[in-house]
Amino acid sequence: MAIATTNPATGRVERTFEEHDAAEVERRLQLAEQASWELRRTSYAQRSAWLHAAAGLLEEEAEQTARILTTEMGKTISQARAEVAKCAKGLRFYADHGAAMLADSPLDDASVVGAERAWTRYEPLGPVLAVMPWNYPLWQVVRFAAPALMAGNAGLLKHASNVPQAALYLDSLFERSGFPSGAFQTLMIGAARVDGVIRDHRVRAVTLTGSEPAGRSVAAAAGAEVKKVVLELGGADPFIVLPSADLDRAAATAVAARVVNNGQSCIAAKRFIVHQDVYDEFVAAFVKQMGGLRVGDPLDEATDVGPIATEAGRRDLVELVADAIEAGATATVGQTVPGDGWYYPPTVLEDVTDRMRVYREETFGPVATVLRATDADHALAIANDTSFGLSSSVWTSDQEEADRFIAGLEAGAVFVNGMTISYPELPFGGIKDSGIGRELAAEGIREFCNLKTVWTA
Ligand code: NDP
Repeated sequence: MAIATTNPATGRVERTFEEHDAAEVERRLQLAEQASWELRRTSYAQRSAWLHAAAGLLEEEAEQTARILTTEMGKTISQARAEVAKCAKGLRFYADHGAAMLADSPLDDASVVGAERAWTRYEPLGPVLAVMPWNYPLWQVVRFAAPALMAGNAGLLKHASNVPQAALYLDSLFERSGFPSGAFQTLMIGAARVDGVIRDHRVRAVTLTGSEPAGRSVAAAAGAEVKKVVLELGGADPFIVLPSADLDRAAATAVAARVVNNGQSCIAAKRFIVHQDVYDEFVAAFVKQMGGLRVGDPLDEATDVGPIATEAGRRDLVELVADAIEAGATATVGQTVPGDGWYYPPTVLEDVTDRMRVYREETFGPVATVLRATDADHALAIANDTSFGLSSSVWTSDQEEADRFIAGLEAGAVFVNGMTISYPELPFGGIKDSGIGRELAAEGIREFCNLKTVWTA
């Protein structure tokens, strides 16, 4: 894929960018290694001050930065502004709490291991490669970069080829915040050159957020090189509605959880599993609200749902929905937008069966799959009948039932009576084909550290 900004609202290429040649990639790898040695010698207080400076710059530059996101991948301008604000908050969170998360941990009674003192300490690994997607062009990167830089690692970003202006903005942000030159850099390269970078001896670990095939390929290279890898590969999160739920709140939240980011979020609710006793009432409210969403220009403040980020992404949705309808699903379709933009109408699919691709595959756009459950056990069985395991949401006012779902759902997270959101304060990641490892919180910051055991007599 060429490295370019193509506005999804018009389908027009607005800017193209040259890839970095081999010499430039080599220069950046050398710089990353140098910077990681420099960073390692700085204090947490110093890194914290630089992260605070980055948060301040982001806030000062919020409006122009939000416009970059909307122009490059089509998210609504209000959601773009919210993403920028969330990044500033995330940077401050690791600035304020990172040192405590990485504090030394002593063994209370060192005599049991024959030592005078024994403890563990966290040390940085060195340059970490981050292969990142276009759907949250700033947040996906910041949720890697803030903890990684606080821990003293250098970051190398290979961003998605359709968000180059966001990638270059991030390249400049950390340097302007005071971090040593090379502490965080963008590599302007296509996916085909990622393998070579992972295999470079200066790169110590790799993280990827994106599709399953991309994750498998990165994990294979990292495995062959015995390098730490963290993967976040999307999901088909269930949103389960049980009879005791507050149906009004559940329906309104279901709409928000499905169409967040124009439906292109790994943790968007994708499969709506509804108990038969409340099926008609819930689905009527859900369909009505999906149908009432305003689809259109993402720069228009009144728009709820903008275009799909890429032409290929829209084609995938068209094919998935056509396959379901051909096999007997019924579709209720919301507002369509004529013209050259890559718009896709909010769509609710009912009468879905396991013979349809939508039953198994991730729908990356405003398409909801609704499934009817005969009872709570059936709902849980449908929820777990997937190769993914990122997050989940269950709606009930019965505490015992909630506890059963909390324990029974095969997922990296369970949200009870709320939609899944990634918070800097909480660990984030999946099981099964949704990924390996965790981002965010103490667990996330420690992923790219050497946990060193110290024994002294
Ligand atoms: P990709 O997984 O292809 O892209 C994500 C990142 O990985 C990009 O930087 C991409 O680079 C890079 N990449 C792609 N293939 C490889 C590879 N073989 N080796 C190394 N790096 C690679 O996502 P798409 O944009 O193609 O989206 C396809 C689907 O992926 C979506 O429909 C959705 O299902 C899922 N997805 C999930 C996301 C999530 O948040 N978990 C985010 C985005 C997509 P380049 O752009 O240069 O190809």
